[in-house]
Amino acid sequence: MKREFAVIGLGRFGGSICRELSKEGMEVLAIDSDEDKINEFKNIASHAVIADSTDEASLKELGIKNIDHVIVAIGDNIQASILTTVILHDLGIKRITVKAQNDYHEKILNKIGANHVVHPERDMGKRIAHSIISNNILDYLELSDDHSIVEVKAGKKLIGKTLVELDIRARYGCNVVAIKQGKNINVSPAADETLKEDDILIVIGADKDISRFEKQLV
Ligand code: ADP
Repeated sequence: MKREFAVIGLGRFGGSICRELSKEGMEVLAIDSDEDKINEFKNIASHAVIADSTDEASLKELGIKNIDHVIVAIGDNIQASILTTVILHDLGIKRITVKAQNDYHEKILNKIGANHVVHPERDMGKRIAHSIISNNILDYLELSDDHSIVEVKAGKKLIGKTLVELDIRARYGCNVVAIKQGKNINVSPAADETLKEDDILIVIGADKDISRFEKQLV
């Protein structure tokens, strides 16, 4: 049976969860108090409805009780996030994942019935810090909150392979934009370019993709 999810709050974080779950074929009920957000998601989620999640009656009306897993991704309005979580818990929702804005918020959420509290900005910051100090990441340039360019030393799994064999774009969602070979920089590497020892790849992509690429392939 298909699992059913509800995502409350369709900002960057909730919106991304909603898109990803929908892409994976899940049944998603998208909820936001903002009509524009609902219009944006009505063709993405299975159902998209305007509702204020701090209103218990509205949530009941939406049949939230039948949902397997609810994700609360209300951003800055900590009060609304807390109240929504309490209501969901009182309604008996078994799995509640909530995005925390800060450590105090996280503490409260853990006390009032959230099963899973996520802190994406802090956690991503930590991961990036780790990848910066990893042996393979030589340099790092932040392009936006969640995109970067990194210089990665070609590891054992890459040496002797061509870019087309590695299929980094399809498998990891990031792009090798250049290869440094000593003092030379090949700014437009061909698909049949074979990677050699001491090559340095310049990779652009979302931090999560780069991190996956670096952990699995480099
Ligand atoms: P992010 O930091 O992930 O981008 P935002 O703060 O931008 O998060 O977005 C949070 C979303 O939650 C907004 O689209 C907002 O309309 C929605 N939201 C805020 N309060 C409520 C509420 N009480 N009920 C439903 N949606 C809400």
